[in-house]
Amino acid sequence: MTPDLDPSTVVVHAGRPSRVPDAPVGESPVFSSTYIAGGDLGYGRYGNTAWTALEETLGALEGGRGLSFASGMAAAAAVCDLVPVGGRVVAPQHAYSGVLALLDQQATTGRLTVERVAIADTEAVSAAVVGADMLWIESPTNPAMEVADLPALAAAGRTAGATVVVDNTFATPLLQQPLSMGADIVLHSATKFISGHSDVVLGAIVTDSDELWTALELRRRSLGAIPGPMEAFLAVRGLRTLALRLERAQSNAAFLATRLQEHPRVSLVRYPGLADDPGHARAAAQMSGFGAILAFELGGDGPGAQRVCESTALWVHATSLGGVESMLERRRRWAIEVPTIPEDLIRLSVGIEHPDDLWADLAQALKA
Ligand code: PLP
Repeated sequence: MTPDLDPSTVVVHAGRPSRVPDAPVGESPVFSSTYIAGGDLGYGRYGNTAWTALEETLGALEGGRGLSFASGMAAAAAVCDLVPVGGRVVAPQHAYSGVLALLDQQATTGRLTVERVAIADTEAVSAAVVGADMLWIESPTNPAMEVADLPALAAAGRTAGATVVVDNTFATPLLQQPLSMGADIVLHSATKFISGHSDVVLGAIVTDSDELWTALELRRRSLGAIPGPMEAFLAVRGLRTLALRLERAQSNAAFLATRLQEHPRVSLVRYPGLADDPGHARAAAQMSGFGAILAFELGGDGPGAQRVCESTALWVHATSLGGVESMLERRRRWAIEVPTIPEDLIRLSVGIEHPDDLWADLAQALKA
């Protein structure tokens, strides 16, 4: 593709079949467990044209080579498997609970050791990463919405000889490209904004290192955590409209963050787009937009926040995020969530509905 296209154009056109007469405009899923011998694909666990379309598109957006997995967690597990036995991983204190639980499980079995750090504290992370094998970053973090200094941490990680991984799920490849800031591997739960319609579970990594790509592809083959062709097809189909969806969802999120900040029942709003948010300056420097996720607290107890989540009519009370439909959830309803996340923190995944309708429903739920 032409190198200087805007990402909103790349997301529409990358990963498509060659323009030859009668070729389809977009890649279709191939439902075959094996292929006629002699070609590159070979077997259904090694490749599928629908994966390739997704991988090429994500690769073009992130600036590397993509690799799709059965889920974000399958991708995370393959990445963790790169850590040598007995190695040390530096990971955020707050991040997606499933990834933190995976690391804890591996620490319990003695597979590796984990050191948890406040990821927004650049000095502390840079000190902790000396002698580590992997630095796991998430930015903004789920659900605390902390922002890590990606260029500084990537430099510290690389100097220490650690593999630097950035979970870019919240920002999406349109708002933040960690490889360009020095990261080695970018990870996505493609279940979220990339697919965008809450109908697919899928994951992906992108790396600009052939060595890491090959090591991860080997793990996908051997662990068998492959995406279904239909899931990959749906993800590509959803991804084509990411720029439009994000534009609307992000503007809705900024509007709601301001409204929530003004609301008497709300004690704290975390959204990097707010000028007084602790992560604002950093996010403005390394992201081209502030995204569509925010978190707020009521300054009360868990049951009160739970009542708010159960009192909406329009907002969907469910876990997950990044769909066209707005969703909310009290994260501590999950036993696995990190105990330092407040009981009354509600995470909003803002969708593409009309902002007035979203606010009206949230405001009536806050009265509850
Ligand atoms: N990373 C982040 C930031 C997430 O929010 C999630 C899921 O919520 C994951 C990874 C795991 O992805 P998946 O649910 O697709 O396995």
